Amino acid sequence: MFILMIADMYLKLFVLIMVKLNFFDLGKEPIVREVFPLGNSEVIKNGYEITDKCIKCKKCEKICPQKCINDFKINQTHCLHCGLCYEKCPVNAIRKLGN
Ligand code: SF4
Ligand code: SF4
Repeated sequence: MFILMIADMYLKLFVLIMVKLNFFDLGKEPIVREVFPLGNSEVIKNGYEITDKCIKCKKCEKICPQKCINDFKINQTHCLHCGLCYEKCPVNAIRKLGN
């Protein structure tokens, strides 16, 4: 019983550390995404980033549903983390951030 209580406590602690709130403002074009940490959790940077392996082919820019890639940079405010750019980059120049 005591072990179960300890396990439950750690589980709650883990959930609290990992919790963050993603807010999507669908009323804006393009959609705006904001992240708010809950409790004492830190906001871990996640999403995608274009690295200097980029050959400037613009495939990512064309496929992005949010049109949030400009000058080979991702506008993080509008990125929905869909991963399409990451999947379609021919030279794996887009890095996935966080976990
Ligand atoms: S698809 Fe890849 S190589 Fe092409 S512009 Fe985007 S990041 Fe650069
Ligand atoms: S993850 Fe999706 S929304 Fe974000 S830049 Fe890539 S294609 Fe656009």
